[in-house]
Amino acid sequence: MEKRGRIGIPRALMFYRYFPFWQSFFETLGWKVVVSNGVRQKGKIVYFEDSCLPMKLLVTHAIQLKEKVDHLFIPRLVSLHRNYIMCPKFRGAPDIVRLATEGHVPILNETIDLREGEGALLQSYLKTGKRLGATKKETKRAYLEAKKTFNQFQKEWKDRINRLPTGRLFEMDIPTPSEGSKASWRVALIGHPYNLYDADINKDLLTLIKSLGMEIITSDSLSEEEIERGVRDLSKEIYWSSGREIVGSLFNFLSEGVDGVIFPTSFKCGIDALLQEFIKRRLKIEGGPSIPLLILSFDEHTGREGLVTRLEAFRDVMEQRRSDGQIAVS
Ligand code: SF4
Repeated sequence: MEKRGRIGIPRALMFYRYFPFWQSFFETLGWKVVVSNGVRQKGKIVYFEDSCLPMKLLVTHAIQLKEKVDHLFIPRLVSLHRNYIMCPKFRGAPDIVRLATEGHVPILNETIDLREGEGALLQSYLKTGKRLGATKKETKRAYLEAKKTFNQFQKEWKDRINRLPTGRLFEMDIPTPSEGSKASWRVALIGHPYNLYDADINKDLLTLIKSLGMEIITSDSLSEEEIERGVRDLSKEIYWSSGREIVGSLFNFLSEGVDGVIFPTSFKCGIDALLQEFIKRRLKIEGGPSIPLLILSFDEHTGREGLVTRLEAFRDVMEQRRSDGQIAVS
């Protein structure tokens, strides 16, 4: 079928959570989806002052796409949960990209603010559909199809992350393998999705973790209720959507039993700086000081060599703990 045109999706930020939804939505509406390449294969990171690496990568990827597509899709993400908000940088993301691409390509930038209720998500996509010339009925059908694809993808996530190479995780035509080798350790990986899955940020941390015999669990395979349970009894409120997810999933994993926790963070991210301190303190309270916790800070200068050494040391601590008879926290 002849495509209506090309929608560019930068391989950055919440691509690493919602790409299955976005791809399905636009393809059902008859558009071809074009995704940017990683910077390791294509050029250098675009620098601008005082920004975290994930935002620099968004701009870099958008610039890569600007000549190749009819629209860029960069939604204005204000809130993804009823009572929580996104980091303010997400609100400005479409404007930053517009400046960086010099207005070269139209940006589909409808606001997503779920503080307005569940229906706000559909409303946002209806506006996007309208801009692309789709009817309400066509857009609703694409939205429901996208939801189905996304839910299925989330269900398979644990197998995908542990059994596929990092570069293949979001290739939707690659089926999820059902068999894999048995890991020695069960490790919770917490953090913003882009810090966890973008190899240009974390130097392909996933491959290193798996090569050391660790099985990875992440918040992607938890339900909203499970995450909520983890933050329900906190004395201090967390305002950020990502903070809620990181802390809520951490406490869920601790209650289920894990051997260790890895928290990749972005240098220059205020939210990560606060969460680090909060998590360190809570881990001492909840599980005693012996739960191995590895906090990794990434920016564009981080090297891979130091990372390997730190991961090996982390695994050694888990090993020691096991030989001392301390089993996974539960
Ligand atoms: S949450 Fe942190 S890493 Fe993410 S965009 Fe905001 S400042 Fe950057």
